[in-house]
Amino acid sequence: MSRWAYVNGRFVRHGEAAVHIEDRGYQLADGIYEVWAVIGGRLIDVEGHFERLARSLAELRIAEPMGRRALELVLREAVRRNRVSYGLVYLQVTRGVARRDHAFPDPPPPPAIVITAKSLDRAAAEARAARGISVITLPENRWGRCDIKTVGLLPNALAKQAAKEQGAGEAWFVDADGLVTEGASSNAWIIDKDGVLRTRDTTANILRGVTRKTVMGLVGELNIRLDERAFTPEEAKSAREAFITGAGALVMPVVAVDGTPIGDGKPGPVAQRLRALYILNAQASNNL
Ligand code: PLP
Repeated sequence: MSRWAYVNGRFVRHGEAAVHIEDRGYQLADGIYEVWAVIGGRLIDVEGHFERLARSLAELRIAEPMGRRALELVLREAVRRNRVSYGLVYLQVTRGVARRDHAFPDPPPPPAIVITAKSLDRAAAEARAARGISVITLPENRWGRCDIKTVGLLPNALAKQAAKEQGAGEAWFVDADGLVTEGASSNAWIIDKDGVLRTRDTTANILRGVTRKTVMGLVGELNIRLDERAFTPEEAKSAREAFITGAGALVMPVVAVDGTPIGDGKPGPVAQRLRALYILNAQASNNL
């Protein structure tokens, strides 16, 4: 099946899609991105991702590439053209094309926009969730503005590769205080030994996960206490359960941290319940 990408105003064949060599995203990682999960052919958590997109652009003083309604139409068209039922839509906006210079080009060029959509194997994702994943921990080495979803992902890519080489599915960064910040592409959670659901608070240097926020709204349906409080890798190892959240992972149980099994080494009931609730909730809001 031919794939389509949206590049600066038009849909082009994926294999032929290209950006300029002096795009500041390519030269300087001067750009931001956003990712929506697609379930049942529909975008999930639409508002939350649009809000964060606007915030990331504003923080970097990059102009909005197009109006909200038009952008939403193009995202949906990308899903339709690529026949994505279950998968991801990726949007990237950079400061645009300009002669290479670190300071912002003046006058500003039009921002450059790229949208792609890809299918994921739903059965494989469910099988993975039924097994759970392992995570490794690594020293935090990212910049101080991880709240902005920039395309500058080299530390994240290196961490993910290290995880892969150790047979793990995610890497958790640990800051100078010995506390887990988040994963390379997800937020980190535990249900600690006292049964409290814990995840890092958003005043820390982490991305304010949209899935994280939706999952927080679902916790009320479980009889469990939620505390936005940091945890150490040691606390994770002695936790009852652990999991990660993100547009790609949705809610994914974690069964080992640095080789130490969590609980009985199987996906925990809270993580499994939250995954099911998250997907149900996504499908239900799709039908409105
Ligand atoms: N943290 C990082 C570093 C991420 O890259 C991501 C998602 O890609 C997340 C957290 C989870 O964010 P969201 O739930 O909005 O996808």
